[in-house]
This record gives sequence, structure tokens and C-alpha cells, in this order.
Amino acid sequence: MGSDKVYMEWRPEHNARYPFSNQAKEFISQHDLTLESILTSRTFGMARNRAKERVIEAIEEGRIGGKWASRDAHPSNQLTEIVSYPLARMIVSCVDDEFLHRRYALAEAENVSSFLHNEDDMDLVLGVGNELGLVGSTAGKEITVNFLDFIDITRDMSAKEWKLVNQDLRGGRVHLDPSKFIRLLKEKAFQEVLKDLPLEVNQDIKRALSGILEDVTEKLEVLKEKFVDQDLGEVEEGLFPPCIKELIKKQAEGKNLSHEARFALTAFLHKIGFNQEQIIAIFSRSPDFRVDLASYQIEHVIGKVSSTEYTPPGCGYMKTGGICHKPDDLCGADWMTHPLTYYSYKKKRSPQD
Ligand code: SF4
Repeated sequence: MGSDKVYMEWRPEHNARYPFSNQAKEFISQHDLTLESILTSRTFGMARNRAKERVIEAIEEGRIGGKWASRDAHPSNQLTEIVSYPLARMIVSCVDDEFLHRRYALAEAENVSSFLHNEDDMDLVLGVGNELGLVGSTAGKEITVNFLDFIDITRDMSAKEWKLVNQDLRGGRVHLDPSKFIRLLKEKAFQEVLKDLPLEVNQDIKRALSGILEDVTEKLEVLKEKFVDQDLGEVEEGLFPPCIKELIKKQAEGKNLSHEARFALTAFLHKIGFNQEQIIAIFSRSPDFRVDLASYQIEHVIGKVSSTEYTPPGCGYMKTGGICHKPDDLCGADWMTHPLTYYSYKKKRSPQD
């Protein structure tokens, strides 16, 4: 991942904050650790526990708290924190579940983002970018990145604010304010963490981690039973218009939905009779699902927060906002002006009715 450039301000706690970095890998290699000792020795019992905690926090909270990553953390705890990262990657790789891999990668990326927002040294932020393979340069108060890197990283970010045409592009470089640059780094961190998952894990690794794997699998099943695998009753997703199907698909793949897209999906589902739990079940298919945030956003749209119940947008708005997706023959009818009309038309003609 990234270049081998060394940053003067890179300190031991930065290895704990950014354990994917080459610097952290080098730090680990200086300690002469073997896979066997990390997996089985008592010395690394705390690191294994911390790795389990990392994965369980990712499952339950959708983010990972930084533990021994402060400047005054004891060096042995910092080492524990750093070693827990490759161990956590081994743990999720032992579980054959793509949803877990994506949810874990997103949680690690969330962690990187929250650390970066608290760094007061912009050189360090640029250094983390370099470690992730995104080279930024300062231009006054802004950060610039190569436009090809920008296009590559934002490929799954559908909000208008991330389209290249809406960027300040000069001489092949995109100018960003620091918070947008950090948002880009978060996406890049997600892609980099996910890229090699699942790692190849042999039976010895699975055996050594078996106790942890039982706990992790149990937590994953609890989350899925509670939200993801909810019975959606009589709603027939097959009758949804192409735009709504696409939003649900993107949601399940963990792709970034714009605010407008989330709004359109929530309001549509509410109008056709989904209750709050069922809407949460759809949103929970996304690996970055957080029940508190999703509930708040849904309650807002369906009128529980402000008493204003929003109407889902029509085809005109969906087209302008880039949310209309591969309209089919039915979409092409003169009278087709709303995704709800599409659904009710199909439903009336559905053989099950
Ligand atoms: S035409 Fe309307 S219903 Fe069809 S995909 Fe586009 S927005 Fe959806």
C-alpha cells in the first residue's frame, strides 16, 4: 500500500492509528514476530482480544474505537493495537461472509477518517494519503490530487458533489478543501482494506482462532437476524421500478448513496407500506449500516421527527438527480411520471393478486 516515503513527524502512536501503513509494518518487522507467536503465545493474548474487539465493534457499531492510539499510550499497548489489525483481518477472513468483509472494511475506514479529522498536522494527513496510495499536494489552504486518482477513488460515490464536472479542476489536478480530501482518504482506506479480503487462511490459523471465530459468528448472526434477514412480508421487490431496484442493489453492495437517493428510497418504501422496521431491514443490507443513524434519517422522512411526511420524488426529479436508472419499456410510457405509478401498475397486473 502506498510509497515508502518517510515522514519526519511519524511517531509510534501513528502506527497504532494507521496500522495498514508501511511504517507500521516496518515497526512490526523490527519486533521479530512469528505468525505462531501472534496466534498462540500468551504474550499476544491481549492483541488477540483486541482483534476480536475490533471485529465485534465493526459488526455491532459499524465503527472501531481507537484504543491505545494516543501519544501517551504505553509502547506495549501501542504494539498490541498495531498487531491487532493484521489479526483482525485474519479473523474476518476465516468467516466466509462478504457482508462481514465489507462491514469490517468500512469500520476501519471510519476509524481512519475520525483520526485524520483530529490530526493538526496537514503533512501527516498527506503522509497517510501517501501510505494509502493517494498522493496529495498542498496549494495554499487546499489539497490537490491527480484527476485520474480522483475518478478512480470516487467511482462508487454517486452524490453530485463527487462528480468530476463539479470539481475545481486546474491543470489536471482537482482542488479540494482538507475535509473533502479526508473524505477521499476514507473511501480509499475502505477500498484498500477490502482489496485483499478474504486473505488466505489455513486450517492452523482457523484452529488457533476458533474460540474467537465462534464469538464473532454469533454476533454476526444476531445482527443479521435482527435486521438484515427480516421478513418483508407481502412486499414484492420484483415489481419495483428499475431505479428503486438499483438503489437497493447499491445499498446491499455498500456503495455510497447520495442524500437524494437515500431520501427517494426511504420515501418510496414508506409510501408503498413499509413500516420503519422493514425500511431499516433494507438499509441494514448495507455494510455501513448504523441503526441509530438509519433510524433518525428514516423517522425524519416518514414524518416522525418533524411531522412533515415527505412524498417520494417523481421521474423528473429522479432523472435530473441522476437517480433514474436504465428505464425499461414501461418507464417509456407517456403517462409514466412517478416510480409509485410504476409499482402500482405492475402490482395490479401481478398474477399473485
Ligand atoms: S423512468 Fe421513473 S420509474 Fe422508471 S427508472 Fe426512471 S425514475 Fe424510475
